[in-house]
Amino acid sequence: MKSLYGLTQTEAEALVISLGFPKFRAAQILDWLYKKHILDWDEIKNLPKDLLGELEKKYALTALQMEEDATCLGETSSKYLFRTSDGHLLESVLISSQREPVGQRERETVCVSSQLGCPVRCTFCASGKGGFLRNLTAGEIIEQIVWIAKKSGRKITNVVFMGMGEPLENFEEVIKALDILTAQWGFEMGGRKITLSTCGVTDKIYEFVKRTDGKIRLSVSLHAPADETRSKLIPYNRKYPLPGLLAELKKVHQVLKRDITFEYTLIAGVNDSREDAKAVAGIAKPLRAKLNLIPYNPIREIAWETPSRERMMLFRETLEKSGVRSTFRKSAGLDAEAACGQLRLDRSMRQV
Ligand code: SF4
Repeated sequence: MKSLYGLTQTEAEALVISLGFPKFRAAQILDWLYKKHILDWDEIKNLPKDLLGELEKKYALTALQMEEDATCLGETSSKYLFRTSDGHLLESVLISSQREPVGQRERETVCVSSQLGCPVRCTFCASGKGGFLRNLTAGEIIEQIVWIAKKSGRKITNVVFMGMGEPLENFEEVIKALDILTAQWGFEMGGRKITLSTCGVTDKIYEFVKRTDGKIRLSVSLHAPADETRSKLIPYNRKYPLPGLLAELKKVHQVLKRDITFEYTLIAGVNDSREDAKAVAGIAKPLRAKLNLIPYNPIREIAWETPSRERMMLFRETLEKSGVRSTFRKSAGLDAEAACGQLRLDRSMRQV
């Protein structure tokens, strides 16, 4: 059975008209879904009983169920585990950033998954280890935010597509989810509050920026400045090698209304040398891109290590001397994002 979350304005209007009700009822349905975040039919107060009855016959309200209470990942992040209607597990993370005085919340960011598993299979990521199962629907993507907003009682201010999956390999459903997030009849979220992170699906990246009018922030996983090392870290690099990706990013740079961010996981002895930093600067500078440096967060399956603090600072200094801006991702985000997939893997293993 389809779920109501994921309906666009056009689809909602077509639905109510097909059921013999006036068009304005669609706006009421969308308001309950995307502004009030209902999780139970009983919460709907202003629809005629016969319309509600028809909707309940044809649709489930939600496609996801929350599998267990949030798991804390340090002081500012919590991981949520959901079960899909076909029995699979997926996860999302809420990251709260605070400002002074401590206690006042500045940003509440939900990190959403876009696929069940991931076809990219990055060597350092637990999500890739579980293989790829299927794409999530726009409704399943949106519901992650709805459930977290409702259960945490927080107002979600930002969304990042950095959870399980490669969002550009689930192109149409991700575009639809972004439409719902940014539309007036939807969440009314500004494009600058939303970030899509991709490993660099060369043949879709420019189309994505065009379809979203260059408004959504774009983050590209670089992780190495040359094909040989990058292919070891991101096997998709063999399909979409760096020279082709960088040529596409030059085109993207012309139409994107925001600066590109490169994600770069620093791994001791793999991609953290001064020469690597110089080569990265050579890539980032012409694109006016900034670097988000992420100290490698060890996972059980791989014997790599986090570089020493001195080595990471040297990498950063080399970038900055070359005129490239960089930041280190804060530890809360690091825990939440670099460990993506681990909770799901742990849970799956317990069930075997
Ligand atoms: S890091 Fe992202 S793209 Fe790579 S395997 Fe993990 S979820 Fe997929």
